[in-house]
Amino acid sequence: MNCSVGSGLHIVLTGAPGCGKGTQARLLKEKIGIAHLSTGEMLRAEAKTGSDLGRKISELIDKGNLVSDEMIIEMLSKRIDEQDCDKGFILDGFPRTLPQAEVLEGMLKDKGINLDGVVEIQVPDEIIMERILGRYSCMKCGAQYHDRFIKPKVYGVCDVCGGTNFYRRIDDNMNTVKNRLVNYRSLTYPTIPYFENKGLLKTVDGTGTIEATSEKIQKALNIIKD
Ligand code: AMP
Repeated sequence: MNCSVGSGLHIVLTGAPGCGKGTQARLLKEKIGIAHLSTGEMLRAEAKTGSDLGRKISELIDKGNLVSDEMIIEMLSKRIDEQDCDKGFILDGFPRTLPQAEVLEGMLKDKGINLDGVVEIQVPDEIIMERILGRYSCMKCGAQYHDRFIKPKVYGVCDVCGGTNFYRRIDDNMNTVKNRLVNYRSLTYPTIPYFENKGLLKTVDGTGTIEATSEKIQKALNIIKD
């Protein structure tokens, strides 16, 4: 894989829920200034509006089920056409099924975009459970914390914005996480050999620190050298 940042980098970060895709995508966005497209965040934003569609989305997300391929594909295609994607983007949470992976290829081709690489972040299920069940975010700025691993410097106060209200995702509970992992194995995992066969896949161990994993991802994408 030979990625040139200057010509715009278009990548997919994939892996099981809780493997760190969102955290790593945010870091990469900061580092190389390309857009971070999280389909989960797009869906949560729609769910928040309380529209009919939003209510249907909430029901699916809260149980750990996937929304339909058609809906998410339409949403993503429109998002890619926005101006901040001109310099490239990181897809986080998409594609999540084989049909989504196949459509992505055609969609990008139509838009004249080349997919530069797919990075799979590997983390065992026990660690995933621990990470997801302990994570929470600042209500005001979205900064992310963890009961054990990433505590704010002052208890109950956000390091970034000083906010004092925090929330946990409704789908970050034991039963839903189990269902999300089952869905990952049966629906999303088949996209891994699909991308491998296309010569696009890089696998990275995501069990280390956030910084260590970020470095591995950047090396895999040739953003930094070994
Ligand atoms: P995430 O924030 O990536 O963990 O996504 C949260 C939830 O949004 C998932 O459990 C699904 O219910 C839904 N979702 C996110 N991305 C997709 C996608 N590409 N296809 C279908 N459902 C999705």
